[in-house]
This record gives sequence, C-alpha cells and structure tokens, in this order.
Amino acid sequence: MEHQCRLHIGCHLTSSKGFRHMGEEALSIGADTFAFFTRNPRGGNRKEADPDDAAALRRILREHAFAPLVAHAPYTLNLCSIKPEVREFALRAMKEDLERMELIPGNYYNFHPGSHMGQGPEKGAALIAEGLDQVLQPGQHTIVLLETMAGKGSEVGGRFEELAEIRAAVRLPEKVGVCLDTCHVHDGGYDIVRDLDGVLGEFDRVIGLEHLKAVHINDSKNPFGSRKDRHEKIGEGSIPLETFRRVVTHPALRGLPFILETPNELPGYAAEICLLRGMEAEMQEKMKDLENNFTRDQDKNHKKE
Ligand code: FE
Ligand code: FE
Ligand code: ZN
Repeated sequence: MEHQCRLHIGCHLTSSKGFRHMGEEALSIGADTFAFFTRNPRGGNRKEADPDDAAALRRILREHAFAPLVAHAPYTLNLCSIKPEVREFALRAMKEDLERMELIPGNYYNFHPGSHMGQGPEKGAALIAEGLDQVLQPGQHTIVLLETMAGKGSEVGGRFEELAEIRAAVRLPEKVGVCLDTCHVHDGGYDIVRDLDGVLGEFDRVIGLEHLKAVHINDSKNPFGSRKDRHEKIGEGSIPLETFRRVVTHPALRGLPFILETPNELPGYAAEICLLRGMEAEMQEKMKDLENNFTRDQDKNHKKE
C-alpha cells in the first residue's frame, strides 16, 4: 500500500526579491512550502505586487506540487488595540494583504491575533472577530489563520479557548483556521514534550483539529510555561528532538504544511528540513516493514489452514 506523500516542510523566506525568487529559493533548500511577510514585519507599506511575478510563482508551486504557503502578517498589526488608529491600520493592512494574496490563490494568511492591552481577553477576542468581519470576503481564496501565542503580556491566543471564541464570533468561520506554533504553545504551558497527544486532544475538543491548517515548527530558548516566545534552532532549545520527531510523524498533523521560523540562514534551514524529512521518512519505512511482516504472517496463517 502506498503511504501518504512526503512531509510538507519549508521555512520563512524573505519576500524582498519577489514571488518567483521565493519559489526558487524554496526549491534550492528542499522545501515544498514556505512562509513570507506580506510587508515589512514591523508594519509599513507594501511594494506593488507584480502579476507576472505572481504567475511565475504559481507555475513553480504547481509543477513541484507544493503544499499551501503560509504568508505572515506583520507583527505590529493589532486588531484589538485600545487605540482606534492602530485598529484602523490593521484593518487597512489586512485588507490590502488579502487582496494581494488573491494573486496566489489557495494559500494561508497567518496573523498574531493581537494584544488586548488591559481590556481583557474576552473584549480582545470580540474586537478581533469584529475586525475579521470587516476584512473577510465570502469570495476570497485565502484562509486566514489565527496563530497560537505564548501568552506574553496581554497577548490574545495563549489559550485555545480564546481562538475558539474568535472563530465562533466571526460571520465567515469557514475562512478562519488556526496555525499551531510549537515554541508558543510550549512557552504558553501546553506540554507538547511530555504529552503531545494530550495537547492535540485538547486542541480537538476546544477548537477542532479540522481547523488546524498549519504548524510553525520551532524550538524554544525558554523553559516550559515561561510565556516568553523566543525561538531557537531545532534541537538546540528546551524542546527535545524526540518531540519534533513525534510532531512531524503525528497522524493528527499529517499532510499539514510545517514552517520553520528558527534563527537560521538558508543553509541552516536546509539542514533542519533534511533532518525533519529524515525523521518522517524513517517512520514511513518502519510502517512499511510492519505492514510487510503483517502480510507475510497472514500468508503463513493461510497456508497452515
Ligand atoms: Fe508568528
Ligand atoms: Fe510562529
Ligand atoms: Zn514566536
């Protein structure tokens, strides 16, 4: 029996040289998905998108059977700020970004839900849902992803419940999914090291695993539950390699795009992609062996009868 296709994995790439360049760079490091900032990560204006450049990327994605890309909104967007002008800016930026994403339809647009700045997580979630209602279009070909956060300061999204609340409040929940960040949930107090099954089970109960669309795969510089959010290279932080092996081979996560946001340049990313692909391939081999042994045993049993 043919097993599920290979692991879909890539990393964060710079978008400064355009769409096609990112596709080529991804291919050069063995990636079949990637992330990029839709504009300067600290906010600011975007460059005009070139439709020919987008078409060139679409061709690469199709020819090399890429998994969906996971674009990233700037960190500074805050749909639940106390300041109306900050919310206004977030709305304008997201609207523009989503328009631009239509040049490469069928991909994801991930964002940090926001910081409630003392208004409380309920008010925060309500404002975020209200904002999403203003930017989501029934005809759009992009699913917007809420990222699971470490719960630093007044960040919304440190608890699965908060993300579920946002999804429940929007008018177009089918346009809203979730991206799970391993560094963030670990720092946020979800114990993926000792109990990955338990964490994914809780995700399923609270949000629904069918809404999990992508994984940010990062190690953490800080201990479990620290609510810090500092990414580390895979295997060099407080999350053991064995946990990453379980993450990339977990049946509940199979087929999702995995995005590395580790502190690396391209060669470091290429090495991490190779390492994680190796872990997944090894598991597939083991499964195949088990299956072969099983069929052989069955044959033997038949002959005995
Ligand atoms: Fe992020
Ligand atoms: Fe992330
Ligand atoms: Zn982070």
